[in-house]
Amino acid sequence: MLDEGHGPAGTRRSDHCNVSRRDEDRGSKKDDDMQLTVIGSGDAFGSGGRLQTSFHVDDDGTKFLVDCGASTLIGMHREGLDPCAVETIFITHLHGDHFAGLVWWKIHAHHTVRRKTPLTVVGPVGLEERFHATCEVLFPGSSKVEPRFEMKFVEFAEREPIEVGGTRLTAYAGEHPSGALSAALRLERGGKVLSYSGDTQWVDTLVDCARGADLFITECYSYDETSIPYHLNWQVLADKIDTLAAQRVMLTHMNLNMLANRHRVTRPDVIFANDGMVVNF
Ligand SMILES: [Zn+2]
Ligand SMILES: [Zn+2]
Repeated sequence: MLDEGHGPAGTRRSDHCNVSRRDEDRGSKKDDDMQLTVIGSGDAFGSGGRLQTSFHVDDDGTKFLVDCGASTLIGMHREGLDPCAVETIFITHLHGDHFAGLVWWKIHAHHTVRRKTPLTVVGPVGLEERFHATCEVLFPGSSKVEPRFEMKFVEFAEREPIEVGGTRLTAYAGEHPSGALSAALRLERGGKVLSYSGDTQWVDTLVDCARGADLFITECYSYDETSIPYHLNWQVLADKIDTLAAQRVMLTHMNLNMLANRHRVTRPDVIFANDGMVVNF
């Protein structure tokens, strides 16, 4: 049974889903597994003491991030993960809790650890301009600093698949105002599919994004506050989840209402993201 909601955060293990949060268990993955570490499973406001959105993926030594909230470096250090080993950062949308961590990432890489390896940042059209503007607001002058490593930006549009570092990415439009495309991402790599809703209210494009995915991560901001716009709640997801046809579904980006009602979600194919959780798939 995959039912993280009935146990303390991230401590249950399952032979079926191979979920754990302990460093020593990271060795339990099979050769062709991708290993996902939840860096941040929180909403924008740190509800429940959780960090902002970020997932670290290790595919046979190739490492990438999906989203990079402001607290991402904190979570990387907490989990003992090396930022310099991350080759690519995929960004779903240009809200601070999903992309602002890039500002600290650049400064840390340039000044503190003197990164030498290239970094590719992939996000919706407008990413590079918004990144430089955010750098300038938070650390004046930092946008003018030419990093000592190659920092490349790749921008995607809706339903125009691109290939970056061996990962095929397809972006699907969500319904979530961010001044640019707010995307759900489908990442295909070595026969495995990782899909992620980003932030959005229900849109049928999620069905295309999640179809047949080995793991579909979805925001589930609320349990039953159905009037909150531009986010998902469990009442909607419970209705739609079978249409997604994903092998497993991971709920993340939870507010206090959702966190307090986790025990009411009892589907065996649904797990809850917790900071530090490791999932092999
Ligand atoms: Zn968010
Ligand atoms: Zn958002």
